[in-house]
Amino acid sequence: MVVILLGPPGVGKGTQGDKLLEDLQWEKIATGDLLRAARREGTELGKEAQSYMDAGELVPDDVIVAMVEEKLASLPAETGVLFDGFPRTVPQARELARVLPKVDRELDAVILFEAPDQVLQKRISGRRHSPDSGRIYNIYFDPPEEEGICDEAGTALVHRDDDKPETVTRRLRVYREQTEPLVAHYRESETPVLMVDGDQEMDQVQADLRRVLSDTLGVEVSPA
Ligand code: AMP
Repeated sequence: MVVILLGPPGVGKGTQGDKLLEDLQWEKIATGDLLRAARREGTELGKEAQSYMDAGELVPDDVIVAMVEEKLASLPAETGVLFDGFPRTVPQARELARVLPKVDRELDAVILFEAPDQVLQKRISGRRHSPDSGRIYNIYFDPPEEEGICDEAGTALVHRDDDKPETVTRRLRVYREQTEPLVAHYRESETPVLMVDGDQEMDQVQADLRRVLSDTLGVEVSPA
């Protein structure tokens, strides 16, 4: 199985994907996470990606595709794959269609999460991240006990540069201009595009995601 989680930044794809994989032994390929790991490790790829990411722009397609291809090749063929944050452009989708048969896989479905821009703006600009525990808070919806301090690590939380309000506006614009056309692209290529309303309580979004996977794709996963 290969499934793409598609949707604007802040809609909850990453969180929902992680929650789903608590029950499903699939592998998540999240290009944003791979890029952030490369930055932390200070690799050439990380250095190349940094300026694009901080500006809220997309990293060039060839860099992303090479990274995904390498990751896919490292996985056993029977492991299900959940893409999060990839593809983000029509050329990336075309490259994915070229690469999948090489690893004996095919795309089963795209799951599209949606929420209004003002909801997304508030969700992302409220995010705070603990570099020490990896936990992500939200000052509006899920604040730490003590302002600015991680409950688990006891150290300061940071506001990622690309979560600052001016960059968030740019990321949303980039999504609408460059990534949303993927919906039409996949509908035209007759890949199932399944909708999940991302503007609901987290648990409800998870329940909807699981229902779509089991009812439409026959994936064996318990209801949330
Ligand atoms: P994310 O964590 O998915 O929101 O990604 C954070 C940033 O990484 C994005 O704003 C882009 O700069 C970059 N990025 C992640 N995935 C991709 C991709 N598939 N194509 C281009 N840039 C990406």
